[in-house]
Amino acid sequence: MRQYEDEYRHKGLRRRLIDSLHRKGITDQRVLDAMNRIPRHFFMDLAFDQIAYEDRAFPIGEGQTISQPYTVAYQTQLLEVKPFDKVLEIGTGSAYQGVVLAELGAQVFTIERQKKLYDRTRQLSFLKKYPGIKFFYGDGFEGLPTFAPFDKVIVTAAAPQIPPKLIDQLKVGGMMVVPVDENDSQRMMRITKQQDGSLKEEKFDLFSFVPMLEGKTNGNGN
Ligand code: SAH
Repeated sequence: MRQYEDEYRHKGLRRRLIDSLHRKGITDQRVLDAMNRIPRHFFMDLAFDQIAYEDRAFPIGEGQTISQPYTVAYQTQLLEVKPFDKVLEIGTGSAYQGVVLAELGAQVFTIERQKKLYDRTRQLSFLKKYPGIKFFYGDGFEGLPTFAPFDKVIVTAAAPQIPPKLIDQLKVGGMMVVPVDENDSQRMMRITKQQDGSLKEEKFDLFSFVPMLEGKTNGNGN
């Protein structure tokens, strides 16, 4: 059986991808370096090891996608992750975004609502390198009250509005990056919980995400 390996060829393709992200406006060198260390093809089917280094989203099964590298870099840059930050991620998917956060030194708590995807992703042997990532099967709209508060929250699915329970689980001084529905796409937003408890809302570019859906599913539809 063919095994995942990170060959010179992959490293070369990855370097080119990272350079292209820089040209597209990703300036945080820590984010670029972290993404340059992670073999993105490990998170996809073996057959797609070339496509893994194109700047595009890709299907990972169950109607879901691994986010486009530019989108991952963009959200991560906005999140301003510091080592030891407690970060809550909504939408584990392939776990690629979670690993990027872990490479930046974050303690990652990630939630996935689709049981099949949750089970499959956890089997990925590369994740043994990241024992600090905690995986949860559940509904991201609820967050993780038991582990709150968080320094940062990142939502990787299209939210109908800013999820109120996730705001509650944010520390004072904490930030949430979330794509919020606006007509047919999503406006990237960054919400900062300020010292007086009020929220600062910043708006960024438009993106296209799969929907954030209520409840969890065992794989028999939504
Ligand atoms: N971060 C992922 C991209 C995921 S795509 C990666 O790096 O690959 C968005 C994911 O969010 C999908 O897997 C979808 O099933 C999940 N999702 C959608 N609504 C959710 C919810 N309410 N709670 C948790 N996960 C959700």
